[in-house]
Amino acid sequence: MEELLRRSEKLTTVGQLAAGVAHEIRNPLTTLRGFLQLHQEKGQLNPRHIDIMLSELDRINLIVGEFLILAKPQATRFEVKDVRFILGDVISLLDSQAHLCDIMFKMDYTSEVCQISCEENQLKQVFINILKNAMEAMPEGGEIEVQVKHAGPDKVSIAIIDQGTGIPSEMIPKLGDPFFTGKETGTGLGLMVSQRIIHSHHGMLDIQSEVDVGTVVTITLPLREERGIESPQEQAPQATIEE
Ligand code: ADP
Ligand code: MG
Repeated sequence: MEELLRRSEKLTTVGQLAAGVAHEIRNPLTTLRGFLQLHQEKGQLNPRHIDIMLSELDRINLIVGEFLILAKPQATRFEVKDVRFILGDVISLLDSQAHLCDIMFKMDYTSEVCQISCEENQLKQVFINILKNAMEAMPEGGEIEVQVKHAGPDKVSIAIIDQGTGIPSEMIPKLGDPFFTGKETGTGLGLMVSQRIIHSHHGMLDIQSEVDVGTVVTITLPLREERGIESPQEQAPQATIEE
C-alpha cells in the first residue's frame, strides 16, 4: 500500500483554500456570536459557555497559526544546515511530551554529513507536524524511529516510522488536502503545510501505511554539495499560497 503525495495533484488554488479557511473559521465564529448574543439578552454568561467560547477561540487561533507558517516574509533566507541537527532540535523539543505518552524516539542517523539548503524554521515545522501525527497515532505508546540516510549521491532521506493505528487505504489519496482530518480535534492542515514546505525545498514527501501496523513518512531532500568554499546564500522564491 503506497501513495505518493504529488504536489501537482494536491495544490489547490487560492480561491479553494480561502473558501476552506472561511468555512472552518465561520463555524466557531457563529458559536461565539451566539453565546455573546445570549449574554447580551440574559446578562449572564454560563461558565460552561465560556469554556466553549474559549475552545472555539483556540480553534480559530490554531487554524490561523497553521496558515501563518506559509505566509513567510518575502525574502526568506535559505541556509546550509545539517538535517541531523535540525531533527535533533525537534526531537528534544518533543521528547518530554513523548515521554508522558510512553513514546520513545529511536534515532538511526548516518554518520555522513547531511548538509541541505533550507529555511530552518519551516523545516522544523514539517518535522514537528509529522512527528506529532506519529505520536497521535500511538495512544498506547511505543517507538517512533527516525532514520536519516543518503539516498544516492545527491539526496538525503528522512524516514519517520511509527507503530500507530495506520491509515486506511481509502484515506490515503486525501492526505494533504486542506482540512482533511481523521481526528475529532484535528485541523487537517499539517500535511498540506508540510507538503508545500518540502516542495519549496525541492524535496518529496511520501506516505506508506498499513492499518494496525503503522505508518512510514519519507521526506527526500537534495543534499548540498560540500565544496569547501562558503556557499552563497540563496533567496527562496517568494511564497504565495498559489505557487
Ligand atoms: P491533523 O493531524 O490536524 O488531522 P494532518 O494533515 O496532520 O491533520 O493529518 C491528516 C490526517 O492524516 C490525520 O487526521 C490522520 O487521520 C492521518 N494521519 C497522518 N499521519 C498519520 C500517522 N502517522 N498515523 C496515522 N494517521 C495519520
Ligand atoms: Mg497533524
